[in-house]
Amino acid sequence: MQTQKEMTKKEISRIKEQLDSPKKIIITTHQLPDGDAMGSSLAFYHYLLQKGHKATVISPSNYPNFLKWLPGNDNVLNYYLDKDLIIKRFDEADMMFCLDYNTPDRAKGLKELVTSFDGIKIVIDHHPDPDDFGDYMLSVVSSSSTAELIFEFITSLGDRGLINKDVAACIYTGILTDTGSFSYGSTSANAHYIAGEMIKAGADNLMIQDHIFQSNTEDRIRLLGYAISEKLKVVKDLNVAYIMLSIEDLEKFNFQQGDTEGLVNHALSINKVSLAVLMTEKTGSVKFSFRSSGKCPANLIAKEHFNGGGHRNAAGGERSGTLQDAETQFLAIILNYKDKLT
Ligand code: 5GP
Ligand code: MN
Repeated sequence: MQTQKEMTKKEISRIKEQLDSPKKIIITTHQLPDGDAMGSSLAFYHYLLQKGHKATVISPSNYPNFLKWLPGNDNVLNYYLDKDLIIKRFDEADMMFCLDYNTPDRAKGLKELVTSFDGIKIVIDHHPDPDDFGDYMLSVVSSSSTAELIFEFITSLGDRGLINKDVAACIYTGILTDTGSFSYGSTSANAHYIAGEMIKAGADNLMIQDHIFQSNTEDRIRLLGYAISEKLKVVKDLNVAYIMLSIEDLEKFNFQQGDTEGLVNHALSINKVSLAVLMTEKTGSVKFSFRSSGKCPANLIAKEHFNGGGHRNAAGGERSGTLQDAETQFLAIILNYKDKLT
């Protein structure tokens, strides 16, 4: 299993050469982008603009409102809304950066465009098990976030001086969100160091925290309360907690993209719980969001049984069928992981 792939000095200098003259560059990220996907993409976008490139950030889907303050947000293209323009940008581009994902599958609707792109492909990511689909790859599983790698990458290109206020705000956001506010196991000294450097470079950390954590709608907070008081189930003898939300539940609270982000962490925060799951009903399928503590391999469970993957302690997947099917299957499967859960 390939889990680590750093770029060689030679590769870095070849990329640097490419970036020394103006290019048309597209930056793509994963389906339902989170703070790290959007933070790392927009950070790199602001860097490329300063280098004189024509850059475009392309998202496979919409993303949470609490990220829509990010500088450059208004220029992001969304595959659902801007398909024709996106196809044009793919056609014209000389280079493509794939950030915060390591298999074209994760780019969902963009998958074919990503796979058939015939310019230079550069993958920068921190998930385990990368597919070998780039001409260049910076894949560091021990990194807290892709945003952390973007800092390292810009630095290795000799351009640390181009980390301005906008780049810094985006990198800070990626690290903040992907470390769960500096609380997950991936929170290294380096993650703290870079976050500090980003504040020095002009990231307004209090403003960013405010946008991300203090901008809830009333509906979102009521959905959180409802999910925890009415929908949380705990399997005590297996140290598992899970929440199932139906389409009807979501509609009752006027669900918007991002409203359930972080919800699963409340289930994991229960004393002794080592695996928490949020199952969200979609039309004809169920989306799984896994969080675990310690040695419990959430990504293995997601990969082997729910067509997904991710990090050891934060993973996701999807399965066709009803919520009821999903629950039955999940309860059967976790019996096989008893030794990792208790
Ligand atoms: P979340 O629970 O926040 O949606 O996702 C947590 C992590 O799981 C993500 O950072 C990503 O690494 C991974 N993940 C989520 N959904 C999927 C999926 O459908 N497929 C794969 N391969 N990984 C996923
Ligand atoms: Mn990430």
